[in-house]
Amino acid sequence: MSVLTSCEITCDCGETFEAELWKAVNVSDNPEVKDLITLGGFNLVSCPSCKQVFYWEHFFVYQDIKNELIAYVYPKNFEGQAAEYRSRMIKEFGDVIKSMEKTIKIDFEPVLYFGIEDLVATLKNEEYIKDEIQILDFISKRMELDLILLKPSAARNLCVVNTIPKIKKSSGDIRKDIVSGLEMLLKYNPNLSEYEKLLARIKKNLKCLDEILAHRKI
Ligand SMILES: [Zn+2]
Repeated sequence: MSVLTSCEITCDCGETFEAELWKAVNVSDNPEVKDLITLGGFNLVSCPSCKQVFYWEHFFVYQDIKNELIAYVYPKNFEGQAAEYRSRMIKEFGDVIKSMEKTIKIDFEPVLYFGIEDLVATLKNEEYIKDEIQILDFISKRMELDLILLKPSAARNLCVVNTIPKIKKSSGDIRKDIVSGLEMLLKYNPNLSEYEKLLARIKKNLKCLDEILAHRKI
């Protein structure tokens, strides 16, 4: 559920006024708010006296369960007390999970941000990655490629794209099949920078795939 709350705002001009701000954003209920966040229109207020429009920093929770992203976004200047806010988040999150356990199972950890910038960067990066995944999906249907799906939250933590190709004709070693799958994909389309990065990372250390594959989506 998305929630708006009324806040008291003080403008640089000295005027104090009330405005409605988001304190919880649920992307499945309000997908348009995600665009507001990435495009810079989120929690903007307008001073009735001097007419200035500005962003008002205010704690909110961002929830995108399908993509396994729940972020607690505190104002930037709270960063000095990061440890305190982290334990507060863990406690609140535990309560939320308990209250939701009958309707939905959440098996991932929340993320803590100070300032909206890191959330914006994460969302923009994932929009970009989504485009590459769509291209992989398209290509895999035309080539001898299978897709390995990873848990989105784990892929985010490991800084790896959450859909990985492998060749259909297995060599008996899944790691080699993934390398061949990535090579086949990049031969077909060399402009997929996320997959290029992944292939370079695997070639440097084949064992990194063991950790990645431990987070396959069931
Ligand atoms: Zn003002």
